Amino acid sequence: MSNSTAEIPTDNIYCNSLTQFSRRKSIEVNIGNVPLGGKHPIRVQSMTTIDTMDTVGTVEQSIRMIEAGCEYVRITAPSMKEAENLVNIKQELKNRGFEVPLIADIHFTPNAAEVAARIVEKVRVNPGNYADKKRFQKIEYTDQEYNDEIHRIRDRFRPLVKICKEYGTTMRIGTNHGSLSDRIMSQYGDTPFGMVESALEFLRICEDENYYNIVLSMKASNTQVMVQAYRLLVQKLNAEGLKPYPLHLGVTEAGEAEDGRIKSAVGIGALLEDGLGDTVRVSLTEEPEFEIPVAQNLVNRYMNRGDHPKINEVDQNPIDPFSYARRKSLETDIIGGSNVPRVIIDASDLSINKYEDLGAIGHIYHTGLDKFNMTDQGADFIYSGTKSISFMLPNGLKEIIDYSIWKNISDVTSRFPLIEFDDLDHIEKWHNKLNFVAVDAGHIKIQKLAKYQSSSLALILRTRNIHGLAEQRRFFIELENLGIDLPVIIQREYKNINKDQFLLYSSTDVGGLLIDGLGDGVMLRYTSDNQSNDLELIDRTSFGILQAARTRITKTEYISCPSCGRTLFDLQETTAMIRAKTDHLKGVKIGIMGCIVNGPGEMADADYGYVGSGKGKITLYKGMNVVKRNVPSKNAVDELIEIIKEDGAWIETEKIV
Ligand code: SF4
Repeated sequence: MSNSTAEIPTDNIYCNSLTQFSRRKSIEVNIGNVPLGGKHPIRVQSMTTIDTMDTVGTVEQSIRMIEAGCEYVRITAPSMKEAENLVNIKQELKNRGFEVPLIADIHFTPNAAEVAARIVEKVRVNPGNYADKKRFQKIEYTDQEYNDEIHRIRDRFRPLVKICKEYGTTMRIGTNHGSLSDRIMSQYGDTPFGMVESALEFLRICEDENYYNIVLSMKASNTQVMVQAYRLLVQKLNAEGLKPYPLHLGVTEAGEAEDGRIKSAVGIGALLEDGLGDTVRVSLTEEPEFEIPVAQNLVNRYMNRGDHPKINEVDQNPIDPFSYARRKSLETDIIGGSNVPRVIIDASDLSINKYEDLGAIGHIYHTGLDKFNMTDQGADFIYSGTKSISFMLPNGLKEIIDYSIWKNISDVTSRFPLIEFDDLDHIEKWHNKLNFVAVDAGHIKIQKLAKYQSSSLALILRTRNIHGLAEQRRFFIELENLGIDLPVIIQREYKNINKDQFLLYSSTDVGGLLIDGLGDGVMLRYTSDNQSNDLELIDRTSFGILQAARTRITKTEYISCPSCGRTLFDLQETTAMIRAKTDHLKGVKIGIMGCIVNGPGEMADADYGYVGSGKGKITLYKGMNVVKRNVPSKNAVDELIEIIKEDGAWIETEKIV
C-alpha cells in the first residue's frame, strides 16, 4: 500500500480565523474535579520523574508541582506493579490534602493501562506502541494485512475503552512523531499524516464504543512537524465529522534551559496563537515544577487576546499549513533568496564605542592578536540608529543607520540606510546594494511597495498589534497575493516583561512565522526596568529561535527527554556533561534518553544517541543503529565522542591565545 491522495486535505482550514484571535471550541471532558476543554481555561500539567514505586518520593514531587500551579499530575506506569501503586500514591496525596487529578502514562503495557484506568482520572496511551512492538522494520502491507492489523488492535484496545467508560476515566490518545508503529510508517512514512492517522485508528475504535472522553496530542521534537500535525489533526476531525476533541499541546524532548524554553514556545506558541490547545505540558530536562511557570507564561498571554485591534481578514491564504516551504523572496545583498535568515541586533539605545562592545553579539575582539573572532552566533547586522559606529566593523558584521544620518556618510561599503516607509518617495540617495525600509504591518498600503520591487529593498516589518503574529502573517499573505517578493525581516519589540517572558514571547511571535516559511531575518528589541537592550540575551535568543524553527542551524542540538519513573541515570547531570564536551559541534543532533524502552523511538532524527539501557549501563547509537551496547556509564561520554570522531563529525575546539 502507498500514500493515497484521499489523505491530502481538500481545504487548509485548521482554526477559526487567521486574523481574529478566537479559541477553537472543543468538547468538554471531565478529568476528576478539573474539567478540560469547552470554555475552561487552558490547563497546565507536568509529569513526575521519580520511580513510581517510591510512593513518598512521587507524592512529595507531585506536591511541589501542584504548589507551582500544576493542574494535572502525570505518572508513568511501565508495568503492573507501578499501575497498582497508583492507589497508594493517590491515597497518600489525599491524606495530605491534595486531590489533583492523576494521569497514568502507558507505553507497551495494555494490562497496566487496564489496572490504572480503574484508579486514576485519566490514562495516556501511545497509539504507536499500545498494541505494537516497534521493530524499526519497513514492511509492505497488503490491504488485507493492514485490515487484519486494525482488527488485532481493536481486540487489544477495546477492553481499555470499556473500562474507561465504566469508571468515567478520560483517555489521551497521544501520538509521538518518534514512536509511530511500523504499520503506520510503512503506509504514511514519518509524516504529520502518519501521526494523525495513528491517533485516528484508535479514536475510531473509541467512537464505535460510544466513548468520547478523549483528549488528543501530536507531539514531536521537530517544531515544524509538531505544528503541522496538530493543524492537520484539527482539519481531519472537521473533515471527517468527528467531535472537536480537546488538544494537549507539547514539544517532546525540548531539552533544558533557554534552548528548551525557546523550542517549546516556538511549537506550542504557534498553535496557541491560532486558538488551538486546551492543555499544555512543557517538557524540559529539569525538575517538573520548573515546567509550570513556563507553561503558565505561554498560556496566560491569551487570556484577553480577543480584544486586539481589528486585522483585516484574509480572502485567500497561499500558505500550506501542513507542510514547510520557505517563501520565495528576492536575494538582496546577503538577505533573502536562499540566504539563511539573518540576525539584526538593535543597539540604537546604546553607544558602541570600542571593539569589545561587540563581544555581546558574537564578534569577539582579542587584544593580543588585534583581531576579531566571529562565533557561530555572530550577528549579521547591527542597527545603530542615529549613533553611527565610529570604528571599522569586523568582517561579517554590517551596520544599519537611520537614513537622516546615513545620507551624509561617505564610506557606505558595509553601511546601509534604514528608511521609514512614509519617506520612501522623497529619498535623495540610495545604497546601490541594500536599503532597509521600516513598515508597520497594520498601517501601510502594501500595494505601494510594488513599484520598488527592483530597488534593492529589504523590509523591516513591525507591528503594534497585541495579536502581532497574525497581523504580520497577514502582511506576508498580502505580499504573496500581490506578487511582491521583497525580502522581509521580522521585527518585534518587548517592554517591561521579565527575561523568561521575553524568551517565550519572542520565540512564539517570530518562530510561529518562521515555521510557516515566512521571514528572511529577525530583529528583536527588549527593554525592561529602564535598562537598555541586553544585547547578549537578544543575540542568543535570535539564533535560538532560528535554530528551534529549523531555519538556521548554528549550534549542537540536544534532544533530551524530560525523564520519568523509567529513567536510568541522572538526566540533568548527564545532559550538562555531554553538553560541556560537545556544544561546539554545530549542526550535530544528540539524543539523550533515560530508557531503552522509549528512548530510541523518541530520539526522532538525532544523529547520535545516548540511551540508558540498565543500571549504570548506556547504549550508544548512530542514527537508529546501535553502535555499542551496555557501555559502563563512566566511559559512555568518551565512547560517544569516539563514535562521533570515527564518523568524521568531530571538530576540535578552536583555542585562541
Ligand atoms: S525516554 Fe525518558 S521520559 Fe520517555 S519513558 Fe524513557 S525515561 Fe521516561
